[in-house]
Amino acid sequence: MSEIDVPESHPRYESLLTRHRIEDGVETGITSKQGLIAQGRGEAFDYLLGERTTDTAAAAERAAAAHLLQADHAVLSINGNVAALVPGEMVTLAEATGADLEVNLFNRTAARMERIADHLREHGAEDVLGLTADGRIPGLDHERAKVDADGIGDADVVLVPLEDGDRAEALADMGKTELVVDLNPLSRSAQTAAVPIVDNIIRAVPAMTEHARELAGDEAAQREAIESFDAAEALSAAERAIRDGEL
Ligand code: ATP
Ligand code: MG
Repeated sequence: MSEIDVPESHPRYESLLTRHRIEDGVETGITSKQGLIAQGRGEAFDYLLGERTTDTAAAAERAAAAHLLQADHAVLSINGNVAALVPGEMVTLAEATGADLEVNLFNRTAARMERIADHLREHGAEDVLGLTADGRIPGLDHERAKVDADGIGDADVVLVPLEDGDRAEALADMGKTELVVDLNPLSRSAQTAAVPIVDNIIRAVPAMTEHARELAGDEAAQREAIESFDAAEALSAAERAIRDGEL
């Protein structure tokens, strides 16, 4: 990517790059204006966490990778911010874990759905789900309830990065194992997740891919990664990291 006119040595390089990608996403119609607000909220938490992957977040990324590998049917959910920030990285994670990709928008419009699907295909995705929308998540209003029956509707494990709290709860209520990437450990999305990953999606997705490659074919290591992870403890650790600057 051509990206930005800021040297990589700049202390805020990653943050500026992230902003630039979101801005681009809004300009090309992939990301909604609401997505800018969500990004700002994420940045504030990233700043408080020291803009790094904590040890607990790394353990969550490993557990999430193991869940994706163990799933009967894993789906990675893509919204406008995810598509703008990590399109190629999500395609690579899907390939490394055998998961499907599904576009799933809070502010759903046909044009934005198509644009995001095209964007993912430009980044190497073969199949992109979400456009059929013949399934529903119970308990949500019409537009936000739409999913593909053979995608998220059928999945036993879903990765929902930067998901709205309401929908995250509704998906968990469907009995799905929910993996959430969200920098705010207090958000309902993080609180309802089986595996809350309190890390910037820019760092979290490549890290999950690395873990998945390492864990592939090693059932015992996958089980260990899942069993040794404690969601409540991970959320507390993230809060401590924010309050006290603890690792
Ligand atoms: P709740 O989950 O409590 O309902 P919310 O849904 O209102 O909160 P939103 O602003 O809609 O919160 O969702 C955006 C969430 O995504 C925020 O919690 C924000 O911290 C997080 N977020 C934004 N950008 C990133 C990013 N780059 N990486 C990880 N998380 C991010
Ligand atoms: Mg949320």
